[in-house]
Amino acid sequence: MNGSATPPLHERLAAVRGRIDNATRQSGRRPDDVTTVVVTKFHPASLVRELYALGERHFGESRHQEAQPKIASLADLDATWHFIGQLQSKKARQVREYSDVIHAVDRESLIAALGGFGRPVDVFLQVNLTDDPERGGAQPNEVIPFAERIATTPGLSLLGLMAVAPLEGEPRRAFARVRALSEQLTAVMPQASSLSMGMSGDFEDALLEGATHLRIGTAITGNRPSHG
Ligand SMILES: *Cc1c(COP(=O)(O)O)cnc(C)c1O
Repeated sequence: MNGSATPPLHERLAAVRGRIDNATRQSGRRPDDVTTVVVTKFHPASLVRELYALGERHFGESRHQEAQPKIASLADLDATWHFIGQLQSKKARQVREYSDVIHAVDRESLIAALGGFGRPVDVFLQVNLTDDPERGGAQPNEVIPFAERIATTPGLSLLGLMAVAPLEGEPRRAFARVRALSEQLTAVMPQASSLSMGMSGDFEDALLEGATHLRIGTAITGNRPSHG
């Protein structure tokens, strides 16, 4: 018996897809221009299979110790795996083995640890929009030098910038800052034009500022199982 008022997965997914399509059109782009990464962290592999059966192909995980066995158990799916969490340099080599895209690259030691071996991996350079260095991300003035470092590191391909809107303030303004940084970046690296930004609470704002990759968890999956 389901005593909760939470709608079933397919309804939540359809509702989010509808909102994405609307905001994408409003931003003057086509639905195909936007990739939705469904964030499945803390959820079992069975949920990924349900989402896959509903047509989703891009999934996001954020903790190595959880992602590695989960992704291994889903190797039969033709899915694209995004590692979206903060990444310790000493885990970089393992994470790159099962990830197609790594979103939170934000420092020289991590760039060095990810580069130079194995199949090529796509990365986003994360920008920190807060004054808190604990939040992860390069400072805005580090974007161009770090992008150049990624571009000259074998085995890495820079897709563009990634950001998380700060807890405080208007998300749309934060995303507008990322868009401005992206314009500076693409002036020197036209191919690094993707923008990974927008989560459950702010993806429409992100789309209006040019997001190409949304990272959406709870709006689609419902609340995450508690993780202690
Ligand atoms: C968990 C997480 C998300 C998804 O958050 P929701 O609010 O559940 O959509 C997106 N990006 C990152 C970096 C995350 O860690």
